[in-house]
Amino acid sequence: MNPLPVVGRFAPSPTGDLHFGSLVSAVGSYLEARSAGGLWLLRIEDIDPPREIKGSSDRIIHDLNRLGLVPDGPILYQSSRRDAYQRAVERLLEKGLAYPCGCSRKDLSKSGKYPGNCRNGIPPGKKPRSIRFRVEANDCAFEDRLQGPVSDNPADISGDFIIKRADGLFAYQLAVVVDDDFQRVTQVVRGADLLDSTSRQICLQRALGLDSPSYMHLPVVISADGKKLSKRTQSDPVKHHDPATAVEQALLFLGQCPPSGLSLSSLWNWALDHWNINLIPGTRTILPDNTLSV
Ligand code: GLU
Repeated sequence: MNPLPVVGRFAPSPTGDLHFGSLVSAVGSYLEARSAGGLWLLRIEDIDPPREIKGSSDRIIHDLNRLGLVPDGPILYQSSRRDAYQRAVERLLEKGLAYPCGCSRKDLSKSGKYPGNCRNGIPPGKKPRSIRFRVEANDCAFEDRLQGPVSDNPADISGDFIIKRADGLFAYQLAVVVDDDFQRVTQVVRGADLLDSTSRQICLQRALGLDSPSYMHLPVVISADGKKLSKRTQSDPVKHHDPATAVEQALLFLGQCPPSGLSLSSLWNWALDHWNINLIPGTRTILPDNTLSV
């Protein structure tokens, strides 16, 4: 049997403009797929209209194009995929791997871990609101290609987690798994802020009988006060520099050492020829002054 063709993807949520942190994920996922002769796809994760910022999908796509990041194929919009998510929820319900939950926010503890109130049926007096995935004590450990072995257990992190919300919207964890499979993604390269979602996604893949892609979580930039850089736009290279400088900065952040002063197209040619994941810092966060921290 032929090995699966390499497919990578970048999957921004339209909750704001492209910023340096998301550019790093875009560049990393693009180079990892394209330097292996694979395809790089773009998916707009517009499944949460209340959080969406109007016009940001189009601005993200425009900025990616301006930076030379052009996807190999049509853009997938998650807002067009609700039927597929509903089918996945129904399959999980049929298999007894998901259940209706009648809890509202005030029934839940602040820890964020679901205490299991509706696991064996909705208590009298409550109505079904959301749908939760039944997390068993199964092993969803995986080997991250950059961060090494990860043995997070969803039973400890989230407990049974929501796959369809009380407002009828589908949860990120479910949509991402259904669409990574639909787009035949073989490798996920994204920011380490999503590392602790991965074990939940692997559990869902197993429950739905889907193959898991490989995972590589890139360091994310944080400010000295520990906030993600996405919240600080003042000196963001995506906004304040020409495209070649912004891409060069993302490459430097990823440990690659491009010659300075290249044009955008020469920079991409250089990056595709020289992409080396062994140079990427294997940490979860990086402070702006390049002090590495785990
Ligand atoms: N849509 C998510 C975000 O913008 C990323 C999803 C993913 O890469 O799995 O944070």
